[in-house]
Amino acid sequence: MNKFSFKKLVSALVITAATVSISACNFTATNEQQPAAKSFTQTQTQFQQFSEKFIEDFWRQNPGYGVYVGYYKFDDQLPVPDAKGMAQELNFYKDKLEQIQQIDVNQLPANLASDYYILKNEIESAIWYATELKSHQWNPANYNVAGVFGVILNTDYKPKTERLQTIIQRMANIPAYYQAAQVNLTDPTVTHTKLAIQQNQGAVALFEQRIANAVAESDLAAADKNLFEQRLNETTTAIQGYISWLEKKLPELEKSAKTRDFRIGKALYDTKFKYDIYSGFSAKELYDTAMAEKQRVHQEMITIANKLWPKYFKNQAKPSDPLVMIKTLIDHISVKHVKRDEFVDSIRQQIPELEAFVMANNLIEMDKDKPLVVRETPEYQRGFAGASINAPGPYDAGANTYYNVTPLDGMSDEQAESYLREYNHWLLQILNIHEAVPGHYTQLVHSNKSKSLVKSIFGNGAMIEGWAVYTERMMLEEGYGDFEPELWLMYYKWNLRVIMNSILDYSIQVKGINEQQALDLMINQAFQEKAEAQGKWRRATLSQVQLTSYFTGYSEIYQLREDLKQATGDGFNLTNFHNQFLSYGSAPVPIIRELMFDDYVAKHTK
Ligand code: ZN
Ligand code: ZN
Repeated sequence: MNKFSFKKLVSALVITAATVSISACNFTATNEQQPAAKSFTQTQTQFQQFSEKFIEDFWRQNPGYGVYVGYYKFDDQLPVPDAKGMAQELNFYKDKLEQIQQIDVNQLPANLASDYYILKNEIESAIWYATELKSHQWNPANYNVAGVFGVILNTDYKPKTERLQTIIQRMANIPAYYQAAQVNLTDPTVTHTKLAIQQNQGAVALFEQRIANAVAESDLAAADKNLFEQRLNETTTAIQGYISWLEKKLPELEKSAKTRDFRIGKALYDTKFKYDIYSGFSAKELYDTAMAEKQRVHQEMITIANKLWPKYFKNQAKPSDPLVMIKTLIDHISVKHVKRDEFVDSIRQQIPELEAFVMANNLIEMDKDKPLVVRETPEYQRGFAGASINAPGPYDAGANTYYNVTPLDGMSDEQAESYLREYNHWLLQILNIHEAVPGHYTQLVHSNKSKSLVKSIFGNGAMIEGWAVYTERMMLEEGYGDFEPELWLMYYKWNLRVIMNSILDYSIQVKGINEQQALDLMINQAFQEKAEAQGKWRRATLSQVQLTSYFTGYSEIYQLREDLKQATGDGFNLTNFHNQFLSYGSAPVPIIRELMFDDYVAKHTK
């Protein structure tokens, strides 16, 4: 639902196919390249040349990731993650690091300086992933070729026959790819091994069914069809060989005390947090902040629930445990929700109301020329229930931005009821704030004005998610919903999920808590249903750090705003804060802070 699939670009040979998932809330801004103006100083020109060359070389290095964002020039290439390929990749990043270090960032204007820091972080991060994190040795789920083949099959960027020819060409390296995987995986974890088995079974199905059917129905020449048959054989043999190899390994991995834990531990976590999030906080500071915030939110919820209790449970005694009281109340009022067949329409109707509120209160500049199109999620993109922003990639400038909403057609009555209770009358409004106005969609419109290809490809996930989470609270604080206690109570429940994601990630990966302790946190302290909590446990065992991005970005944006209020007193202006903050594009919040703080204070001190 509000999962931002953070496209962490890492030691990409072994990672691209597996970790870049096109899912809900996955968007990249539509941008154009910075025009080369004559007035640029030498350093600016030097950086722009570096940046353009880096991006071009980056796609050559990561052709599969290019396909995901709409850069198809190297779509027929599948790099092999063998020793030679990995050494070449590491050298690529080391060369780029040397080059970027020769550029004097202090000579660059704000927009380019932020691009500079983003690229430098990207390069250093890739080197660290390859040399320190080394997930190519312990995460078998890194190896899965299916994703990019699926995109080539399903995306209409050139005629279908040509796309099938590309697919056939790209299949040539599949056996070598899985050979290399087996050489690299010296220390696999149990959790990631199980995931790899499951996901690669899906990969076999993609080739044997969907791709094979498409080839059979096509008017490819007989020679092409024969070549496909041969490569299909080699492909399924390679993938099935990989699966059996993992399946055979699994029992010994489960038995042995020496098997690597899926948890990465404190040292790796701290550094991964630094690179993935680009935060002004350390991982531990962020964890402490989240723990304190959980306490604060519980107190606020208790206050509201105490007031609301008599309204809904006149003669019934309050449960003695205040958290049980809150849960009882939330369950009770969640029955207020739209009908299942009105789900899409109710969202469509709400967007103009949110826009009107933002404009009437002059909260952020809104661009009336770029309306958000609400539509039913196209069939081929379904699979995730719910709602998400679907923005064009950096290479199709000008395409529409859609708010995809999946109708509840496919659900049983019971599933639909449970879903509608979750996205009840109040939570649906918070969801629309987050996804659309003034959350992701509004941020995207502003971000597009900064015209940075770097930020649209390497945009900071914590800033993007943090902004959407920040706007939920900001809208309510500014009086959206007239301070209705039910709306605030539901907001806090929703916000607790974001807080809990951070606590959970750190507690599992660094403090080493087990499944039971994790479920207890989510169910008893954040009011989550058991099924949701179990799903989150699974996700938290497979990824690291990503779950903290929402809360980190949100905390840092809120903190920046409060610090600016402090520094400017009566001169503080919320609209100007929002507009200036968004003008830097999807850069990490600490960079935006660095670029805007003094300037904002100078302009707003009376
Ligand atoms: Zn989001
Ligand atoms: Zn109902």
